[in-house]
Amino acid sequence: MTPHHPEYGQPALFVDGEWITTTPKMGEVNNPATGERLADFPMAEPAHIERTLNAAEAAFPIWSGMSLLDRSAILHKAAAELRKDAETAARHMTLELGKPLAESRLEIENCAALLEWSADAAAELKDRSLGAMPGYVARTMRTEPIGPIAAIAPWNFPASLAARKMASALAVGCPVVVKPAEETPMCFQAVAKALEKAGLPRGTLNVLIGDPGRISAALIASPVIRKIAFTGSTRVGKILGAQAGAEAKPCVLELGGHAPVVVFDDADLDRALDLSVATKARNAGQVCISPTRFLVQDGICDAFATGFAKKFSILTVGDGMEPDTQMGPLMSPARIEAVDALVQDAIAQGARVLTGGMRLNRPGNFYAPTVLADVPPEARIMQEEPFGPVAIVNRFADFDDAVSKANSTDFALGAYAFTGSQDRADRISAALDAGMVGINGFGLVFLDSSLGGRRQSGYGREGGIEGLESFLTNKFVAQAEI
Ligand code: NAD
Repeated sequence: MTPHHPEYGQPALFVDGEWITTTPKMGEVNNPATGERLADFPMAEPAHIERTLNAAEAAFPIWSGMSLLDRSAILHKAAAELRKDAETAARHMTLELGKPLAESRLEIENCAALLEWSADAAAELKDRSLGAMPGYVARTMRTEPIGPIAAIAPWNFPASLAARKMASALAVGCPVVVKPAEETPMCFQAVAKALEKAGLPRGTLNVLIGDPGRISAALIASPVIRKIAFTGSTRVGKILGAQAGAEAKPCVLELGGHAPVVVFDDADLDRALDLSVATKARNAGQVCISPTRFLVQDGICDAFATGFAKKFSILTVGDGMEPDTQMGPLMSPARIEAVDALVQDAIAQGARVLTGGMRLNRPGNFYAPTVLADVPPEARIMQEEPFGPVAIVNRFADFDDAVSKANSTDFALGAYAFTGSQDRADRISAALDAGMVGINGFGLVFLDSSLGGRRQSGYGREGGIEGLESFLTNKFVAQAEI
């Protein structure tokens, strides 16, 4: 099959070591910056899913039976292979998702680093000895892999969110079936190809794309799959969590967010503004931990709002392939509709538009960087994740008011605060109801940290030591003294 775009290549399924580029039904992938068709992608048939499950089952004893050292060597070699192919993979990512090329390059590098970190960290996992019962030698074994994993990923970090699940699972001995989002079927292939070149045993990693509901339902229902790792919307996460529950199967759900940013009047305002604008623009605001609700103390609120609007409005918005682009398009026409509906509702409810508030009149899915001030609590955008380049700037009076406003949505994923006081930093870290808190900065996802939310933002942790452990199954062994 000839790809429509000369640079993009051909998306494929990866089933039991075979790359499959053509299926009876094909989907279409488009460039969000131009609207042009990039390629057709194959859609997995039931027979592909069955073959994948058989392959993962057969690979489990082989992969988990290898020594830690041998597994680690393959993951390290794959990281090196991926780095050789990084520029091509990054360009594929920008073509299908639209984010600036510099952001795509960082994401591919992150995938390589995750493979290395997970391989090294898996070697540190140890059984835990227990001594509360006299006359017994007891331990909790924490080195048995749970079994084949289904990893279902969204389009907004199309390589690294799949790679984060996969690297943890592979490092502890679990085969993985990855299902990337159909909007971005291409760029994760570079990770799979790197593992193939590095000698990963056949069937240990499989990649399926197609009808997402059908694929995930078949994977979750199969006794071969022992755990589900999902990142995506709260709506879909609840469906998959219910399916897993019906099978008594564990899952980790990384869902939506609506992150507050509390800016106290003793904060370094210039630093807070510069970091906030740059972070809000990242991936055009299509980030689960994107700062969305800026809560600024009364005395500095107007200066913050005006400064934000000024800096946000002059960003260079364009095709991520252009070197000077600071913010790319939204993923799809549907995202434009959803973002604009929230913005127009907020305006109708009395919010003030400081900049933007409309889609940009040009080809592609571009929305103007938007700042809304004094948004009333009744506006839908105060409860619904905007997932676009929209910043809400509202005011608060004192510490308790800030906490109550910050914790006022059903989401509890990322939360941030800016302050010059260590006492306030400690108190706000404790008071924010969130799975991850950043103080005086927006860095929340490190190589060795685990990410995860609370309440409607999901449960379980991904990445870090907790992420590795989540793909193990514990066994308690108690031996009476002989
Ligand atoms: P989505 O839920 O639409 O899709 C996520 C995955 O689920 C994709 O692979 C998709 O193909 C699949 N899917 C879609 N509909 C399905 C269905 N009916 N049944 C089974 N699978 C289905 O989410 P999205 O639009 O790709 O991603 C955006 C969402 O992801 C946002 O809400 C964002 O906050 C969230 N997200 C969360 C995190 C986190 O770490 N918590 C990280 C990134 C994104």
